[in-house]
Parts: sequence; C-alpha cells; structure tokens
Amino acid sequence: MTRADIAIVGAGAAGLMAAIWAGRTNPNRKIILLDGAEKIGRKILIAGGGRCNVTHYVVDEQAYAGASRNAIKKVLRQFDVEQTVKFFSQIGVKLKREETGKLFPTTDQAKTVLDALLREAKRFSTILSGHRVDEIIDKGHQFEITGNFDTIQATKVVLATGGKSIPKTGSDGRGYEMAQSLGHTLTPRIFPALVPLTVPRNHWLRDLKGITLPVRLELWGPTGKLLESFENSMLCTHFGLSGPAVLDISRYYLDAAAHDPDIKLTINWLPQWEYDQLAGMFKKEREKTALQWMRGQLPERMVKTLLSQLFESAEPNPANLAINQLSKSDRQRLAKMLVRFEVPVAGDRGFDFAEVTAGGIPLKELRLSTMSSRICPNLHFCGEILNVDGRIGGFNFQWAWSSGYLAGISV
Ligand SMILES: Cc1cc2nc3c(=O)[nH]c(=O)nc-3n(C[C@H](O)[C@H](O)[C@H](O)COP(=O)(O)OP(=O)(O)OC[C@H]3O[C@@H](n4cnc5c(N)ncnc54)[C@H](O)[C@@H]3O)c2cc1C
Repeated sequence: MTRADIAIVGAGAAGLMAAIWAGRTNPNRKIILLDGAEKIGRKILIAGGGRCNVTHYVVDEQAYAGASRNAIKKVLRQFDVEQTVKFFSQIGVKLKREETGKLFPTTDQAKTVLDALLREAKRFSTILSGHRVDEIIDKGHQFEITGNFDTIQATKVVLATGGKSIPKTGSDGRGYEMAQSLGHTLTPRIFPALVPLTVPRNHWLRDLKGITLPVRLELWGPTGKLLESFENSMLCTHFGLSGPAVLDISRYYLDAAAHDPDIKLTINWLPQWEYDQLAGMFKKEREKTALQWMRGQLPERMVKTLLSQLFESAEPNPANLAINQLSKSDRQRLAKMLVRFEVPVAGDRGFDFAEVTAGGIPLKELRLSTMSSRICPNLHFCGEILNVDGRIGGFNFQWAWSSGYLAGISV
C-alpha cells in the first residue's frame, strides 16, 4: 500500500495549484497528485480557444454566481490578480492584458501555462496520471483511496475533481459522489453554465447561422423586472445561439427558467437603442422604409429574415412604406423585433459543450480561510467542484488559482 501525507485528487488547474502551494509551504511532505486522465491538463489546453485566458485584469465577486458573493470574495481576496500575475511570472509565464481586460500568456499558447504548472508541481509532488479514484474512505486518522490502482493511504486529501463540463477531459462528476460519501451535500441543482442555447428545430433563427454580431441579451422576470443583462457578441448557429453574450447569460436563464416558466430571454440586436427610444423615433421616421432603415445597421441576410417574419404575407408590403406610415401595432412589432425579441429557448447543449458547471458543494460547508471541510476533518476542496461559477473572461481559472492556493497552503 502506498502512503502519502497529502493526496490531491484531480490535477486540473485547481489541483495543480494546490500541489504547488502545498509543496512550497511544506517541502518535506510526501504529496501525490492523482488524475484519472492519461493526459493531464486537457481542459487547460483547450481553454480560451487554445490560448488559455488565465485571469482578468479586474476580478471581483460580481463576476461570479452560485454561492454568496461575499463568500466568494473571501476566497478571491486571499490570492488576487496581482498575486496570480506574480506567481505565473515566477514559474516562467509572462501574461499580457488584452483590450477586453483578459490576461493571456504572451506566447498565446495554453501549453506554456500547462507546462509551467506541471514543471512546478513535479518539484514537490508525484503526479500519477491514469489513476482514476473511485472511492475515498475516511478511516479516522487517515483516508483510504481506491480506484484502478493499489490502495493509497493519505493523512490529508484535497478534492479537486472539477465539475461535469466536457466529461471527456476527465471531469465527469464522480468527485461529487465522493464528497457526498464523506458527509457533504450538493446544491439542489447541478447544471451546465457558459453553455450554448438551442431553439426549436424549424425556427427561422437557425437560418441566421454564421452571423456574428454585438447584441444585448436581457433576462426578464415574470413581473417584467430586468434580472440580468449581458452585452457582447453573439453567434447564430445551426442549433441556436452561442458566443460570449449567450454563454454568459445561459446560467442565469437556465437557473431562472427551472423555477419559473414565465421567464423571458430577449435579444436587442441594436444595443445602442432602447425600446421606448426606438418606438418614439419610428413615429417620426417619414423618409426611410423599414428595409432602408435596417440596412447598414444589420447584416443584409438578417434584415431580410427579420422583415419576412414581420410582414410576410401583407400586401402592399409594409416593409416598403416609410416607417411612420406603418400602423402603430406594426411599428411596435418592428421595434420589438429589433430590440426586445423574445428567444424561444428549447434547451441547452448540455455538459458536453458547457465551459463550466453551476452548482456543487456549498461553500458554507467549508472554512473559507483554509478551504477545509467543516464536516470531514483533514479534507479540503478547491476549484469547480464547489458551488461557484464565473462569467467568461478568465474568472473561472481565477477561482481555481485562488481556491487552489488556499487549499495548498493550508493542507
Ligand atoms: C472549452 C473550455 C474553455 C475554457 N476556457 C476558459 C478560459 O479561457 N478561462 C477560464 O478562466 N476558464 C475557462 N474554462 C473553465 C476552466 O477551464 C475551469 O473552470 C477550470 O479548468 C476548473 O479547474 P478544476 O481544476 O477545478 O477542474 P478541472 O479542470 O475540470 O480538473 C479536474 C481534474 O480532475 C480529474 N478527475 C475528475 N474525477 C476524477 C476521479 N474520480 N479520479 C481522478 N481524477 C479525477 C479530471 O481528469 C481533471 O483533470 C474553460 C472551460 C472549457 C471546457
């Protein structure tokens, strides 16, 4: 039987970070880092389109959801962006800030990030790939870890198995069950976040596939209250909608829609306009037709599709009248189509296409200064297995770095 002082289960971003800081803090401890995948770090390699968006210039708790923002802040402030940049520079990864505020390695290659983390983690720990953990049993003074390998005993365990997104990278949710067997609970729902949304099979939105444009997506409660909004680019696809704005709002939509069927997601195709402003302007537009007005503001293919949906069978076609000649209801339909179009969401593309997982182990079951379990002594957690998910822009990795650091120095 192999013995270790510390066993870290999961060698993704959070687990590697925990191994590095556990080793730096206590170089004499025997640390092993187990991962079920044969090839470590696949998620880091595919992140940020292969460039790995390591963090964001400004990280604050408002960019996150799941646990309370106050709890999330407690963790983030213990290892902030400045410390993250310094840490990566120390291990040989220089970061550059792009216009969007996102930080990437100057090489533009995720491999630079993964190689540096692996190099540093190997200084302090034994990394065992192809070691899939099935069970962790708490034997009182130690843990027994079993799987497709000879049983390992460890005094302390860090659970860093990630969520359920892109299961082929190795993160398939088994870690949740292990946490439960050690006495932890899970949030009532665990669902895909940063995930593309689908629309019904024959919906005309699918005809817009290939079009990318800046939009504002808005989520409305049943009483008409604006709940969330994201302005960014959106990509129309053969199944529905994707791109940063859609990914960012997806977790809020899916969460709200699960509780309330009257929730509405709308697209503002012209984010510089608000509904009332546009409807008011249309009342006075005596020269341009809808077609003329929309041309130049939206791609031609889209203009035609939107107009044919609005005025398909009318004769004479209202699209050919000056906008102020349209009936009030047609003007309103036009303005609504342009800035408050209700998306008929059919579903989402699921964990196979989700960048992160919403839900997980509640933060209230941990001591946040050490990421240690309040339920099972000598057990720590970090990364996406916890009930925290961030928006696009490097926030999810920052959560992995901050929580991994805390678990590492404390374990
Ligand atoms: C396509 C894509 C792009 C992304 N791009 C970005 C980005 O640019 N910036 C950003 O901030 N975030 C990005 N993310 C999110 C980010 O990658 C994750 O939030 C982050 O990797 C989570 O780190 P983690 O270590 O907690 O979990 P993971 O990276 O999922 O690592 C968990 C590890 O645990 C292992 N494991 C799981 N179960 C077991 C078990 N039973 N036994 C042994 N090992 C196990 C897995 O093999 C895996 O290696 C992206 C995600 C995806 C899918």
